[in-house]
Amino acid sequence: MTYRADRLPFRVRRIDPELNIAVSNSGDFAFLGDAETDLLLTSPSDLSVVRQAELKSKFILGDRHAAGSRRLLASRLAARQSTVTAGPSLHIIVTTLGCSHSCRYCQVSRSLSSDGFTLSKEQLASACDTIFQSKAPTLTVEFQGGEPLTRFDLIEFAVERISARNRDENRPIRFVVASTLHLLDDRMCEFFKRHKVYLSTSIDGPASLHNANRPIPGRDAYERTVRGIEFARQRLGPDSVAALMTTTRASLQHPEAIVDEYVRLGFEDIFVRGLSDYGFARRNRSAIAYDLKGFTDFYVRALERVLHWNREGVGIREVAASIALNKMLCPFDAGYVNLQSPTALGRAVLVYNYDGFVYPSDEARMLAAMGDESLRLGEIGASLDEIQGSPVLEAMIRASDVEVCSDCASCAYNRYCAPDPIDAYSQAGRMDLAPSQTRHCQFQMWLFDYLARRIAADRHFARRATRWAQYPVIDRERSSC
Ligand code: SF4
Ligand code: SF4
Repeated sequence: MTYRADRLPFRVRRIDPELNIAVSNSGDFAFLGDAETDLLLTSPSDLSVVRQAELKSKFILGDRHAAGSRRLLASRLAARQSTVTAGPSLHIIVTTLGCSHSCRYCQVSRSLSSDGFTLSKEQLASACDTIFQSKAPTLTVEFQGGEPLTRFDLIEFAVERISARNRDENRPIRFVVASTLHLLDDRMCEFFKRHKVYLSTSIDGPASLHNANRPIPGRDAYERTVRGIEFARQRLGPDSVAALMTTTRASLQHPEAIVDEYVRLGFEDIFVRGLSDYGFARRNRSAIAYDLKGFTDFYVRALERVLHWNREGVGIREVAASIALNKMLCPFDAGYVNLQSPTALGRAVLVYNYDGFVYPSDEARMLAAMGDESLRLGEIGASLDEIQGSPVLEAMIRASDVEVCSDCASCAYNRYCAPDPIDAYSQAGRMDLAPSQTRHCQFQMWLFDYLARRIAADRHFARRATRWAQYPVIDRERSSC
């Protein structure tokens, strides 16, 4: 009996001299030299039997008419999509912009005054009720600011309202508060413990770097956040706090010290994040920004330092790599919102902002804070159907479909990635900017190339990559304050 060896849809990209990656529609990939790539493209039956078997198992070759193969491929694709098709599952509530920090990359009100910068209880109650219109089987409700602990009463109100409603619905709900932790006290911890609330904070690196990036009047933001982390761990448990870093130009010389700081503080992951171009980050661009090369050099050194600690037996992982590796190596997508086609922003994530409007992402509300309100999806209190029927969301979906965007349709990584329409809008004032001209695309392309090269060249890295990819929890969007 002979088996057909048709070419199924796949895309090829050269990642090194003499080394190519072929990625199928299922997201499986194979590394091929130039000669094998030529055979695959012209005469696949002349590839070795072993190679043909590998390429069939990866849906690069196969019998396109066989019903079994079609069903298997369809179920693989459904598994990859399942985390974003169920309805909004991440609901971010920006209760207040009040904050005593003046972080150089932030857009918030630089005042603890609540006037005009805080949700009313009526608006907050409406946001809580809208959350339950989502059909998502599990929900995450995250409180952001400003510093949300300045209005702890609003967090109590919302958590209690949502928990009461959930006694009938009985859905798994995860609460998160993104905070500097400076105001955390016993009463808050007692409430957080009762309602299983997790905390997310910011650590930008060692004290000198953190305090330079995140000034407060006492110049001791780092010391107070670290005290907050220790206090939370004592009261709520060792896994109660996650941390995020933001890279400024001042960070670029210190990747090893930043990773070491995360190890010293006992965190199990570090998300090496570039600066977003929103809010005051844009206004301060000349002082704190850098180019892609500056960031990727920094990233590589930080990743090497994480791998160094892994070799020393410390189980820390880098989150940006883990997200990309989950896409490349895992049949189930962890659902990271910025890499979905069409975009998951507004579909899986909604932001209920202090100004009374709903936005598709944190970045969209930051643009509104700078005066551009065109990415609003609707008012808080509108039904979920109205919000999700917004023309803004329709435009975002059109601009982020990899089958439609010309750069993406032919991109080898289009099973792992998608354009970010809000990044494009922020850069050029239009969502349909060619993805290859956006920072989002340029970084993701670089990251997928880099990880693919490392997997092909280094079996120790490949083993580590497989472990990071299957890490069970990758937060769908990570926020901090
Ligand atoms: S955004 Fe860029 S890297 Fe991502 S799929 Fe499109 S072209 Fe490829
Ligand atoms: S990043 Fe957070 S802590 Fe810093 S100014 Fe903005 S809201 Fe305040």
